[in-house]
Amino acid sequence: MDYIKQNLERIKANLPEQVTLVAVSKTKPIADIKEAYDGGQRVFGENKIQEMVSKYDALPKDIEWHMIGHLQRNKVKYMAHFVHLIHGVDSLKTLKEIDKQAKKHGRIIHCLLQARIAKEETKFGLPFDEIRDILSSEEYKTLSNISVIGLMGMATFTNDSSIIDGEFASLKQLFEELKIHNSTFKTLSMGMSGDYNIAIKNGSTMIRVGSSIFGVRNYIT
Ligand SMILES: *Cc1c(COP(=O)(O)O)cnc(C)c1O
Repeated sequence: MDYIKQNLERIKANLPEQVTLVAVSKTKPIADIKEAYDGGQRVFGENKIQEMVSKYDALPKDIEWHMIGHLQRNKVKYMAHFVHLIHGVDSLKTLKEIDKQAKKHGRIIHCLLQARIAKEETKFGLPFDEIRDILSSEEYKTLSNISVIGLMGMATFTNDSSIIDGEFASLKQLFEELKIHNSTFKTLSMGMSGDYNIAIKNGSTMIRVGSSIFGVRNYIT
């Protein structure tokens, strides 16, 4: 037992200071999250809004909840009162909905735009040019209850680390380009259990790690 705490310790021991670890607890029971919490972990990621809401309700309120999954716009309202960071924003329409719901709670919700870096058709995310367009649009500038603080990306699922390395490098380059004109930019969310070391080498400031902490998931999500 206590393998969750041990996994956390092992991962954190090798993380550079500027890298935030998001413990991805999707599909895992409250007891597992509690074990990580007792080991000092306070930042957790979920990919389904309902699941995150019920875990938020059941667990201590000093946890930072990150939504890392693909967003259904009509469900944003259920997490608007507590979500700490939304990683997977991939349209201006969704940003507008987050802004609207944040306003109702008098909050400013931090968001990341998800960039498409993998070649796989199945992966979500915006082409680089669409990210540039959103950030320079007039409409974006009127959204006062969101703050886009950076980018998120997922690399191709492959054993070829040179492909992953190239994809993360391209995201880092876009991040640096956008940072020049976007003073809020500070977070680059890239890296999962299988590739976070490559991501960190390429300048990641936030990694999202699930199975290396909690063990394999019972079903694919
Ligand atoms: C599930 C998930 C992760 C964590 O994946 P692991 O391989 O278990 O570390 C990270 N990011 C996103 C967007 C996910 O959906």
